[in-house]
Amino acid sequence: MICLGESMHSLKLKVFLVILAFILFMLLTMGMYWWNIAAFRERLTIMDEFHDVVSDILETRRYEKNFMFYPEPNSLGEALVYLDRAEKTVVLLQPKIVEIMGQGGYETLRADISAYRKLLHSLANGDQGVAIKTRQHGTRMVESVQALLNRKKHIIHDALDRILFMPLAVMALILISITMVYVWQARKVLERLNYVQRAAEGVAKGDYEAIQHLSSEDPISVLMRSAFRRMADQLDARQEQLIEARKLVSIGTLTSGIAHELNNPLNNVSLTADTMLEDLEELSEAEVREMLGDIIDETSRASEVVRNLLDFSRDEQRPMTHLSMFKVISQTLRLVGNQLSLNGIKVEKDVPENLPDIRGDMHYLQQVFINLFLNADQAMDPGGVLRIRGRTEGEMLCVDVTDTGCGMDKKTLSRIFDPFFTTKPVGKGTGLGLSIIYGIIKKHGGVIDVQSREGRGTTFTVCLPVIGDKEEV
Ligand code: ADP
Repeated sequence: MICLGESMHSLKLKVFLVILAFILFMLLTMGMYWWNIAAFRERLTIMDEFHDVVSDILETRRYEKNFMFYPEPNSLGEALVYLDRAEKTVVLLQPKIVEIMGQGGYETLRADISAYRKLLHSLANGDQGVAIKTRQHGTRMVESVQALLNRKKHIIHDALDRILFMPLAVMALILISITMVYVWQARKVLERLNYVQRAAEGVAKGDYEAIQHLSSEDPISVLMRSAFRRMADQLDARQEQLIEARKLVSIGTLTSGIAHELNNPLNNVSLTADTMLEDLEELSEAEVREMLGDIIDETSRASEVVRNLLDFSRDEQRPMTHLSMFKVISQTLRLVGNQLSLNGIKVEKDVPENLPDIRGDMHYLQQVFINLFLNADQAMDPGGVLRIRGRTEGEMLCVDVTDTGCGMDKKTLSRIFDPFFTTKPVGKGTGLGLSIIYGIIKKHGGVIDVQSREGRGTTFTVCLPVIGDKEEV
């Protein structure tokens, strides 16, 4: 069994772990974001330096052009200054250039710059024959640094895309996780609410099966299930107490009938004994024997009445056994028969002896039929008829208890199985009889149904499963 403190503890731990995981996730995301921005800033700085290389090389080419088309003797000197600056920057940026163009690309660029410098020196020394080669070389050099710049731009765009995409991806991830957790939790909450509704309805009807119908094993579900089980156990205990209380009420109601039933044999004993005392001298031995036999018979009749009453009032739980409905009804009628005939009620019994057996507790089933017969008795005026009919219906054995009494209106009919519902005056009704019957029939795996017409009468039908051929006791 899981106790409340334990469950709350594990629940708190779960909430704490979820919050911790969320904080860690946010810290990780922010760290990655910060790292991306820092890397992006560094790339922009490098890009600036690549730009410097490109513009230095372009300057070099501008002075080279000036020298060739508008002979300016200083131009070549300026060109060499810019070329040196560009080369220095290229050397400084070696790791970054290697990263983009590979070691081979870097070395080609260095070689191009050196070759170009040599060509410029040749031009400066008056070798006009290298002019065209110098221009071609210069163009190639500009192209390769432009390519370097373009590739770097590409890398920066990719990094920018990543930076822009990352918050969106994180937001989407958080939204999806929240939605999933919400849907998951909402389903669980709905499942639990449904369970509470079904279990409460089931328990109210005495059907404790519904308590098992929550399959989840999380602490809240386990807690709810065990709370319902505890409630069912307590209700069971109360139900037992109610059955006992109702039994006392039934005994009270039966008293006049039983007193009458005891009175008859006692009167007979007394009369026979008186006669014997008065006429003892004249009586033959055979007559004395007959009269003593009568006394013994009457005493047995009285002690059977007492035994029946003791059986019914005994507070003991017996295991369910094979029972014949014929026997259940006959023994019950023995308890209430006198009461019914005193009130002028005619009993018509049609319960064949050969009906299939049912599995049950004689004690409880007697209580069911005593309550039904006494209710019928109270609903009828003298001259009323109580019909008891036993029959099979598929796998069920059904007993119809029909009276020709006052019947019930729809409102009464809808409430008769509620505990403490009664239309009888104080002292006459407790409102427990039918609710107890309902519980007992449920415990036996059966059903109880009622049909009633106001002013015409009522039929209660009790159906219990018959014992199959292969079933053992
Ligand atoms: P109680 O008999 O103590 O009132 P029950 O639970 O046995 O408690 O019955 C509840 C109510 O159902 C009765 O008060 C009565 O109104 C109605 N009832 C039960 N059986 C009959 C019947 N055979 N005919 C008419 N009404 C009945």
